[in-house]
Amino acid sequence: MTPASDALWQKSYAENLDASDPLAKFRGEFLIPPGPDGKECIYLTGNSLGLQPRKARQYISEELEDWARLGVEGHMHARHPWLPYHENLTAMTARLVGANPLEVVVMNTLTVNLHLMMVSFYQPTKSRYKILIEGGAFPSDRYAVESQIRFHGFDPARALIEVFPREGEDTIRPEDVLTAIDREGSELALVMLGNPNYLTGQAFDIAEITKAGHAKGARVGFDLAHGAGNLKLSLHDWGPDFAVWCSYKYLNAGPGALSGCFVHERHAKNPSLPRFAGWWGQNKKIRFQMGPEFQVLEGAEGWQLSNPPIFQLAALRASMELFDEAGMDALRKKADSLTGYLEKLILDLPGDRIRIVTPKDPLKRGTQLSLKVKGNARGFQEALVRAGVICDFREPDIVRAAPTALYNRFTDALRFAEILKDHVQSS
Ligand SMILES: *Cc1c(COP(=O)(O)O)cnc(C)c1O
Repeated sequence: MTPASDALWQKSYAENLDASDPLAKFRGEFLIPPGPDGKECIYLTGNSLGLQPRKARQYISEELEDWARLGVEGHMHARHPWLPYHENLTAMTARLVGANPLEVVVMNTLTVNLHLMMVSFYQPTKSRYKILIEGGAFPSDRYAVESQIRFHGFDPARALIEVFPREGEDTIRPEDVLTAIDREGSELALVMLGNPNYLTGQAFDIAEITKAGHAKGARVGFDLAHGAGNLKLSLHDWGPDFAVWCSYKYLNAGPGALSGCFVHERHAKNPSLPRFAGWWGQNKKIRFQMGPEFQVLEGAEGWQLSNPPIFQLAALRASMELFDEAGMDALRKKADSLTGYLEKLILDLPGDRIRIVTPKDPLKRGTQLSLKVKGNARGFQEALVRAGVICDFREPDIVRAAPTALYNRFTDALRFAEILKDHVQSS
């Protein structure tokens, strides 16, 4: 071990980083689950289910109280009236993803929104019908895309184009995505990538892929389930047609929480776009006249179907206020240094049992590191859980660890690396 790497393993080194972390106070805003010893666990699964903001209970309780106190009158007279409740989230959501308020809405759940977006932005013809996704996409995305292809009477064997990593490589070469877009050319109807990929943590260049897709006349969308609250995004400027994400991962809004949706401004005032409609997409001025004529709202709100679940919106509001206060620039800066620190420690582990498959370049990843584990990977992850680490296992051999900038500390990264060290040596 070099002296430099020795220093990284000193507790005082990690403690100093925590002491100078401008975002350190946000950890206190969350409930950290206990580990087997009753002390706070090392929670590295904010990429899968974010922790509970302390304010979530209060915000949900307020709505329960107002429901008890007001019944249906709460729609107008709750402390945060329910009728326009989702609008409380619009400005914060727009800032989070780099969009105009008109371009975002919180509604439904993720796979539902992905389908709604494909209803509008996957309009295949006999000559242009293909959808390009990343090989190894999240299963729900793949099922959704395949079912849309079949729904329109096409065969996924021909219409679904997947770009995989090259033989012997862990992640996809960005140039291979661009080459595939170029090759499929005028047959390509939609490019839809998960960003970052849920398994490898690889992030793609949204602006570059959008430009390439549009140059061929295709629509371009992104599933930002692992991107929202993780990557610094500028969706408006980068210009994809749509993006969707969930709010229970990095956004900490609780299990099954709502989804966010971005529709680029260029589509905001186009009532002739095909879409599935519901009364919450109706012009607010005439919605309660309950007439037969549908006048779609401008912007992303026009894709709403139902009146939304207020308790879920309340939980999300608790978390979004924290994101808004911290700001994505500061969060990204901390995440880069936190993930970079953990990466250095892992690279310094003895032996070759663990290999990081996530790209090294901070611009090509978010906060998550995916570790390919030799031998019994599931058993390895279970041993980590017994030692007080919550990280997750994905078949066949990947352990994912995501130190999140809002509530993880540099000392968490060090403690995790120490536990890894014990286990690579003992098994
Ligand atoms: C988490 C995740 C989902 C889950 O979809 P739900 O509809 O929220 O259950 C889908 N796609 C990706 C890429 C994900 O990471």
